[in-house]
Amino acid sequence: MQQILDNIAAQMALETDRGKVADYIPQLAHIDPNQFGIAVATPDGQMYTAGNASTLFSIQSISKVFTLTIGLGKLGDGLWTHVGREPSGDPFNSIVMLEHETGRPRNPFINAGAIAVVDAIMMGHEPKEILGEILQFVHFITDDESIRFDHKVAASEMEHKDRNASLAYFMKSFGRLKHDVDKVLGTYFHQCSIAMNCQQLASAGLYLVSNGVDKHSGVRVINEHRARRINSLMMMCGHYDGSGEFAYRVGLPGKSGVGGGILTIAPGKGSIAVWSPGLDHIGNSKLGLKALEMFVQETGWSVFAQ
Ligand code: GLN
Repeated sequence: MQQILDNIAAQMALETDRGKVADYIPQLAHIDPNQFGIAVATPDGQMYTAGNASTLFSIQSISKVFTLTIGLGKLGDGLWTHVGREPSGDPFNSIVMLEHETGRPRNPFINAGAIAVVDAIMMGHEPKEILGEILQFVHFITDDESIRFDHKVAASEMEHKDRNASLAYFMKSFGRLKHDVDKVLGTYFHQCSIAMNCQQLASAGLYLVSNGVDKHSGVRVINEHRARRINSLMMMCGHYDGSGEFAYRVGLPGKSGVGGGILTIAPGKGSIAVWSPGLDHIGNSKLGLKALEMFVQETGWSVFAQ
């Protein structure tokens, strides 16, 4: 495994076409695209890393996996009255389907869906309480209390919130959001601003590798059916309108973020986190996808083969 990761990191260091760093969040615009990290955590407690695997980055939309888990824990199947579970085939920040579907977002991984999940889990509470809960959850699944929000990134998104605010107000106009839009958005932007490195992120994914059980403590995080369903959603919707391409090239459930990270789950085998800040035209990490494609070719890990 170590050899495979070293080879991938060496290969990625040679790549010249590294994609474009997200600049619609100004705080992310000056991140050096010449970075690449990969980490693999296995259920028996091993951790393998290569490249910039201990450099912190903004997990952005990968956080939507964690809030979905919290949402399902709190509301059970009632969560699906707030959000659907179908691929959208549209960009992550698209508004078009919301009008046809009366403000109910297609799935929890597009921005509108993640905003609806935040509104659902707020249940009348203040943003601070919900953010405390989200961070506590992340600390628990990583067994690492050093993980924090990056308030500068959250503030930067709040300053440039026009698109996400449009999505939120549009949903609110259909009676879909119950809380104050700015409170929901402030919570959502903080959730997205969580800073983690590849090792922490790979470690965070282990509960989805192990049927919902946290491997650090042996405690069940979520029931087996839900863990399986979160993996299904990651496979179908985790890369927005690039989900088909990701399934074709990687064949594992994955969730990307515009910070350049991708969390990928190989059930029973391991959790893989990759990070490279340059994005493709869809907003997914360009080298991250390439590296994962190499990784599955080398390891044979796939949900479609034994
Ligand atoms: N916080 C980002 C946004 O709302 C998340 C997008 C992403 O990572 N795809 O635009």
